[in-house]
Amino acid sequence: MDILIVDDKPANLLALRKLLGRPGLNIVEATGGNDALSLILEYDFALILLDVQMPDMDGFETAELIRGNEETKHIPIIFVTAISKEQKYIFKGYDKGAVDYLFKPLDPDILKSKVNIFLELYKQKEDLKKANTELYKANERILEQQEGLIEEARLKVLLQMLGANAQKLNQPLAFLLDNVELLEKHSDNREKSVECISRIKESGRKISDIANKIRTINYSEPIPSYDGSSSVVNFNREINILVVDDSGDVFEGIKAFLGDQDLVNMSRAANMKEALTMLGQGQFDMIFLDHLLNDGTSIDFLREAEKEGIETPVIVISGQGDEMLVSQVIQLGAYEYLPKNRINLESVSRVINNTLERARLRNDVKKAQAKMAEMSTVDELTKLHNRRYFIEALEGEFERASRYEIEMALIMVDLDHFKKINDTYGHPSGDMVLSKIGGILKKHVRRNDIACRYGGEEFAVILSNVSRENIYAAYDRFREMVSEHLFEYESNQFHITVSIGIAFSNNAESANDLLSQADQALYQAKDTGRNKTVTYMDKEEFAD
Ligand code: GH3
Ligand code: MG
Ligand code: MG
Repeated sequence: MDILIVDDKPANLLALRKLLGRPGLNIVEATGGNDALSLILEYDFALILLDVQMPDMDGFETAELIRGNEETKHIPIIFVTAISKEQKYIFKGYDKGAVDYLFKPLDPDILKSKVNIFLELYKQKEDLKKANTELYKANERILEQQEGLIEEARLKVLLQMLGANAQKLNQPLAFLLDNVELLEKHSDNREKSVECISRIKESGRKISDIANKIRTINYSEPIPSYDGSSSVVNFNREINILVVDDSGDVFEGIKAFLGDQDLVNMSRAANMKEALTMLGQGQFDMIFLDHLLNDGTSIDFLREAEKEGIETPVIVISGQGDEMLVSQVIQLGAYEYLPKNRINLESVSRVINNTLERARLRNDVKKAQAKMAEMSTVDELTKLHNRRYFIEALEGEFERASRYEIEMALIMVDLDHFKKINDTYGHPSGDMVLSKIGGILKKHVRRNDIACRYGGEEFAVILSNVSRENIYAAYDRFREMVSEHLFEYESNQFHITVSIGIAFSNNAESANDLLSQADQALYQAKDTGRNKTVTYMDKEEFAD
């Protein structure tokens, strides 16, 4: 801590230094007013002891200059004087900004106790400043982290969208390559060549459509975070703000800064109950929420809002001493917090702009996720292809097989008595089983086979270009592998079996027909005891 002592006589400075000196206290000396004024700008003094009678610039004049400067006017000044204790001098000193007087000859005890009071005050002020900065930094970190998370989610969605679309290229691409090959083979047959060329064109168009889709996936540029430099409220659309506070002071406080804005509509709810009702009735862009309400706290409100599915951004207004709530309310989903005593034009417009920006971002992410789910071809739990992809692929592969007169197979797998697993060990254990069996299946299939999760606890595999003899053995082996696997969930261990139906395209009229035949085979496996593999046969054979 630094303290400044000002006196034109070196002997007096020395005396003061002797009396005040102690570890941790830096005593800086000035021998005149000018000297003192330049030192003040260099240090952050906790206190100034200022001699009144000095030759060039006296103490009163020096004090006046210190008080006149924005940067230095807060520093406490104690005049040290030997002149008459007459009241007029004392009043003049207070006029010029003295906070106290000390009279020469100095009484060491009085000197020490007065100085100590100011040093203690300074220390408290510093501690408070430090705590506030820490709090501010912590809040900034939370906000940054949240922005990071939103950004991450946005990127993830983007990548998934790209992946899903890229995957769609596989089929038309395979179709195109097949036809190029056919074209080479039939180059001397005009009719067949023309047919191939038209199919190549068709595939080309499909590929180009998908490529266009990938090119136009709309990923709005990340917005630079608000730099806080502008204090001008400048909204380009109407904004509806709900202020929730019981006494009305927050409402009035904010209104004072936004009241003359045409585009801002402000409403007030006096308590939590009223606020929830109003939120149910109208559209609001954001909520300024006083922490203490007469029917609950901001924490109660945030919990209730979550329960009711209210997604309107909330800015919590904290009163004196509520600052420690910050991380708690942010965790509960509040966008920001604003201390009551820091409501001003700049902070309110910053908070509003930030909130609008983040709400927009969140909306973008949601839209992208919805679009993504619509386009997705992957089953989240097992990471196999999903049912949508299966249907498309089955049609495509069936068409291809009949065109080139090759045989394809469809395998349907259904877990046996799976309901019991859920009922006995809980739904999460069922999920674990599904994901594990999905994994076993994925490892089991050949590279070009298409393994899918067909439904809840049903899997399907599309195999193109197969020879019948190997398929039954391969999938009966898969059935055996599942039945031998020991599943473990928490402290439970159990086994599970699957039933499998197989159908081949040569017996089927259409993709649908093939699907129904595989299903029939599967149900035969179920009917005849489960944990079985059955191949669909022509009617007479099937009856055996
Ligand atoms: P069966 O041998 O006749 O096929 O009997 P099952 O119990 O396997 O068949 P059922 O169709 O009666 O029940 C299927 C069960 O699969 C019911 C459902 O709760 C469960 N299930 C479906 N999808 C999921 C899922 O994603 N996760 C979990 N854990 N269970 C699922
Ligand atoms: Mg089942
Ligand atoms: Mg089933």
